[in-house]
Amino acid sequence: MRLLLLGGTSEARELAADLVDAGIDVTSSLAGRVARPRLPVGKVRIGGFGGVDGLRAALADYDAVVDATHPFAQGMTANAAAACTDLPLLRLARPGWEPDPSWHFVDTHAQAAVTAASLGGRPFLTVGRQELASFVPALGPLPALARVVDVPTLDLPPAWELLTSRGPYGLDGELLLMRRHRTDVLVTKDSGGSYTGPKLEAAARPGVAVVVVRRPPAPAGVRTVDEVADAVARVRELA
Ligand code: NAP
Repeated sequence: MRLLLLGGTSEARELAADLVDAGIDVTSSLAGRVARPRLPVGKVRIGGFGGVDGLRAALADYDAVVDATHPFAQGMTANAAAACTDLPLLRLARPGWEPDPSWHFVDTHAQAAVTAASLGGRPFLTVGRQELASFVPALGPLPALARVVDVPTLDLPPAWELLTSRGPYGLDGELLLMRRHRTDVLVTKDSGGSYTGPKLEAAARPGVAVVVVRRPPAPAGVRTVDEVADAVARVRELA
């Protein structure tokens, strides 16, 4: 069976490794957004397909698709659901963070910016470089710390500090960073996963508020699992 694995996440890399071990012919697809992506084992293709039509055309070479893109990669997930009319499609989406009653949940990054501004004066933004523009109107004058993988193309406000780094992160490092910056409000998406979870533990102390952007809705009618092992089992069934 030839499987197209839409990736860009640690789970997708784990799944690719497990499926290659199981003898499945896997091609991982990456968007090509980051300068030095961590490559999965097995075959890899990089770059967009050209919307639903491009993806549909590319699917002629595959027998099934696993969409293991990030929970916030809404465009790719919607395209996969629209294009896979004749092929089995499985969505692998890791669970969100275990919510804390003190967290402030919002639906959009623009709302997150306004909420963060109402809660603190030293925001720590961990939302990805593509979302930073939404935070400039409300947080521009504040000494925000923005952590991203690659330098954004956006000109950041002079008061902001940019930190380029890539997880996984540990609790000690997150505590040090947040103490050094004197973070009083952490902004994150509900990405879930272990790579970036320690920031939430580090923020669980008096004086640090947490703003969480809710996930976009899951695609309707697409079978979804949240564990790599369940995805492996389902692909083996299909194979
Ligand atoms: P997106 O908004 O959902 O997708 C926009 C377009 O990028 C898609 O229509 C597709 O282009 C292309 N694309 C996205 N994922 C692709 C993939 N795995 N393979 C080939 N093309 C892909 O995506 P995004 O939120 O910018 O995320 C881009 C990638 O980064 C994803 O692979 C995702 O797993 C990863 N990622 C995203 C986040 C996040 O917070 N959004 C965080 C960590 C990792 P065409 O229409 O031309 O096919």
